[in-house]
Amino acid sequence: MTKFGGTSLATAEQIKKVAAIIEADPNRRFTVASAPGKRFASDIKITDLLYKCYNAARDGEDFSGTLRDIQARFQDIIDGLGVKDFDLQSEIDTLDKNLRIFTKPDYAASRGEYINSKIIAAFLKREFVDAAELIFFSDDGLVDEEKTYGAIAARLGKLDKAVIPGFYGSLPNGEIKTFSRGGSDVTGSIIARGVGAIMYENWTDVSGMLSADPRIVNNPEVIQNITYTELRELSYMGASVLHEDAVFPVRKARIPINIKNTNSPEDPGTKISASLPPNLRLERLKHSPVTGIAGKKGFTCIRVEKALMNNQTGFGAKLLTIFADHNIPFEHCPTGIDSISVIVASDLFDPEHQGVIFDINKTLVPDSVIIEDHLALIAVVGEGMIRSKGIAAKIFASLANSDINIRMIDQSSNELNIIIGVDEADYEKAVKFLYEAIF
Ligand code: ASP
Repeated sequence: MTKFGGTSLATAEQIKKVAAIIEADPNRRFTVASAPGKRFASDIKITDLLYKCYNAARDGEDFSGTLRDIQARFQDIIDGLGVKDFDLQSEIDTLDKNLRIFTKPDYAASRGEYINSKIIAAFLKREFVDAAELIFFSDDGLVDEEKTYGAIAARLGKLDKAVIPGFYGSLPNGEIKTFSRGGSDVTGSIIARGVGAIMYENWTDVSGMLSADPRIVNNPEVIQNITYTELRELSYMGASVLHEDAVFPVRKARIPINIKNTNSPEDPGTKISASLPPNLRLERLKHSPVTGIAGKKGFTCIRVEKALMNNQTGFGAKLLTIFADHNIPFEHCPTGIDSISVIVASDLFDPEHQGVIFDINKTLVPDSVIIEDHLALIAVVGEGMIRSKGIAAKIFASLANSDINIRMIDQSSNELNIIIGVDEADYEKAVKFLYEAIF
């Protein structure tokens, strides 16, 4: 089972590479396709052009120029592939008509994957199956698993090969609904699980997941093997290679994911699985117990101090309830003896700031409430750290030697990660030094 991202499908040339990859392995029976992405850095993705059309249509403005650009890009692909008898005009006319009557942004955005997948299916001479007939959402916006997996089994179970558009499905009333941006990864994961794939290959334009942000660290190593849990920790902290939600469907069925590069198909890429086989675990440990480093800026720490807090039952629960009442999820909650800190995303806290502090003072009557912002968090993640000694020493020594002040430390009790808080201004420097010390 394969999924190809937007850059892998941006031009006819790229689609030819994709076709060669698919045809090279008979196990690559089902393919999920994105809309054409960027051909060069300043290019615009088809999905963005479609949102632009929708916004103009909604505001009663002329969108014909943008629609013509979309049509021209698809026509280029059709011509470059030499696909005959593809009625692009009627697809564009339908889109044009629907944009003029009452329609939703999700419908407009979904047409990029819809048309692209139809073209790819025609080129590969494989069946096209509309995602609207396979992926079903309930009214609350969550995937209706029973209906979805039932439909996948019934429809794809009968087929040997097919191309399916990513990114969208349908609501109970038949309207189109998309996942959030980059959501074709999620479609791929659902289809892989639905057809019981042996592997979910996610083809993109990089040779796997990197062990640190390449904008900060020069040439970071590619992670060859990673567990779902490690991936989750690293993606949560900002490392992006897959849509955040894409792990969950395949994880339930223990189907491994392989991130591969369409432009360099021989590269092994990154394999994501439930656990590392013992031989790989040993190899990893010899190299480094850490799998990757990721981080984000934009956190605020609210520290509440109260003498003898340790004797009060329910203090922490009451504090967290205040954040929940203001709809602010908390990221971490390190505690001292007479103090407890809540770390939250600054963009969610700032607008609610006054109300939260008022409620804390009223409900908990603390000795003081201290707000510290401009905090960056860095996570050092690796299952190899479990029960192995000396990583924390390396981390802290490297930061001390680089003259970086650590503002917070949080090690998960499963020893899978160590999270360090530093000033936003020190963030890049800290990641660089940590990488050098650890790898
Ligand atoms: N085309 C959509 C986007 O640009 C979905 C995807 O490519 O995964 O976000």
